[in-house]
Amino acid sequence: MLYSELANTFDKLEKTGSRLEMTATFSEFFKTVNAEDIRNIVYLSQGKLHPDFYPQELGMADKLVLGAISSTSGIPESVTEAAWIKKGDPGAVAEEFIGIKKQMTLFSESLTLDRVVKNLLLIENSEGRDSQDKKMKYLSQLLHDSTPIEARYLCRIVTGRMRVGAGSMTILDALADAFATKEDRPEIERAFNITCDLGLVAETISVGGINAIKQMQVTVGNPIKVMLAERLPSIAQIIERMGGKCAMEYKYDGIRIQAHISKNSVKLYSRRLEDLTSNFPDVAASLRAQCRVEEAIIEGECVAIDRKTGEMLPFQTVTHRRKKHGMKEAIKEFPVKIFMFDILYADGIDMTLYPFVERRIKLIETFDLSENVKKLHLLENIKKLNLPEDVKKLYLSEDIEKSNFPENAKESNLSEQIDLTTMKIIESPEEGEAFFNEAISARCEGIMAKSIYQDSVYRAGSRGFLWIKYKKDYEASLTDSFDLAVVGAFYGMGKRAGKYGALLMAAFDAESGKFCTVCKLGTGFDDAFLEELPKMLDKYLSETKPQLVDAEMVPDVWFQPTIVLEVVAAEISISPIHTAAIGLVSDDAGLGLRFPRFTGCVRTDKGPEQCTTVNEIFEMYELQGKKDTHLTEQ
Ligand code: AMP
Repeated sequence: MLYSELANTFDKLEKTGSRLEMTATFSEFFKTVNAEDIRNIVYLSQGKLHPDFYPQELGMADKLVLGAISSTSGIPESVTEAAWIKKGDPGAVAEEFIGIKKQMTLFSESLTLDRVVKNLLLIENSEGRDSQDKKMKYLSQLLHDSTPIEARYLCRIVTGRMRVGAGSMTILDALADAFATKEDRPEIERAFNITCDLGLVAETISVGGINAIKQMQVTVGNPIKVMLAERLPSIAQIIERMGGKCAMEYKYDGIRIQAHISKNSVKLYSRRLEDLTSNFPDVAASLRAQCRVEEAIIEGECVAIDRKTGEMLPFQTVTHRRKKHGMKEAIKEFPVKIFMFDILYADGIDMTLYPFVERRIKLIETFDLSENVKKLHLLENIKKLNLPEDVKKLYLSEDIEKSNFPENAKESNLSEQIDLTTMKIIESPEEGEAFFNEAISARCEGIMAKSIYQDSVYRAGSRGFLWIKYKKDYEASLTDSFDLAVVGAFYGMGKRAGKYGALLMAAFDAESGKFCTVCKLGTGFDDAFLEELPKMLDKYLSETKPQLVDAEMVPDVWFQPTIVLEVVAAEISISPIHTAAIGLVSDDAGLGLRFPRFTGCVRTDKGPEQCTTVNEIFEMYELQGKKDTHLTEQ
């Protein structure tokens, strides 16, 4: 296949405003391509060569790309660099200068998709002392034979700034449209949620149709999209919503880890699919040592522990483990513990399809844990439950009762580093309140209530009422904290002159795939953070409003939504200038945050698509109980 077909499709997509049109463009294109190309096409549409969880990134340094553009076009680097600063888009610079060169040269070979992928892989894998020269050479070879439009996307791909706006949901819609029906869309989405590999899903459906999609399974090595919790404003409402009974667990304040344990190795993934194994090698080793099955996928929260007192420390401390260097010292200085709360796979069994209580029992059975007997109280809890007999039988089957807990495991050999979340079956609001207070005294954020009924399967990638969170913040009648993406900045005045003084913040609209603004944030920044801001943000500068941003307010500079900050606010109110939830509360106004304040926490564990969603903000607004009509002007 010629690479020009793909580049021209990108060009068409970029000019398209609506998600429907994008879906139609993709769908038409998918129907024309060979099954063996579709995987690469899907990855490249998202500016990648691999699925999201692949550890290596192309991320070619700007300087090298400028070098390649200059050496191919013959235009001096000072000129290409000036154009880059002005346009803020490597693609536009390549397009302009390769265009000039093209007018002068007559012969060049047409680029094939295979050749592009081959050279991009060479760029990705270049190592050693002359790796910079090699990367520049491989890119120059491609640029030499590119048309201006082809060059535009090559330079965007290698710098990780694709900007076509091809969200995963749009691609899934297009796959359903091209190879199945609208009714099959949930199955296709589940396949994506349990593999996190859009290219694999595309290839599977294009080769084997919807039946092949239905057969896709959870596999060790392919991270699974995490299940998320809804929120309610009181413990009493949670218990009512849960049908009078539920399991409650401490809500720990750390980093969520999904551990993929196989016979000889363990991989730890963050909630945004980064490979964190090298940050927590001690956790990985303990998990493998104490796992009683060959292969398993489990989830837990990794929490920093005070070296002297053994108490849990807040989220910020555990992020010290994300250093690139000095890991040996960090392991000593910042000890962590993993509190496991779910199991998604165990030796050939897809546990996501089992109800919560069965998963919990399987989790306990799967590990040698110190003080294991104490954990057994779960079975006592289940016995107390007034579940229908047939359901109860399931939970209390002979096997489970007699399951051979490691009576002979030598407790002294078991690491204190892996544990289970503290959990209790709760049957009344009073019990729930008491458990919540216990969680807060143990320095947790609050509690997670989990449904215990037969339908309480693990819903990969979805936020629903099978899990409901309740945090300490809610008690102070403040809303929950918000994790928001930075989409713009305003230059500061007075003491902040010459720096960014305030930021334009947005929530993620999972429906449209866009980032909708909710506040202008100028409070909670200390001097060091203000200094840090340009370093953190300027890599993501955009000359114009990024396609994925939906905003009425115009900042001094725009950013591609990438950096996520935690923000608290006094309340959510109707806003004529913010675009989140427009149409839901009022036809011509959205929702905004009043008195937003940065908490000091950069959510390095979250990508922009893991931000607080517009829907969540709408639900929180409704939970406030009073639909005020204040107009937010911040
Ligand atoms: P939030 O980030 O506020 O939406 O809360 C959800 C997060 O709480 C999850 O992604 C986990 O990282 C974390 N968490 C802490 N304790 C638990 C628990 N017992 N069960 C599930 N998630 C938990």
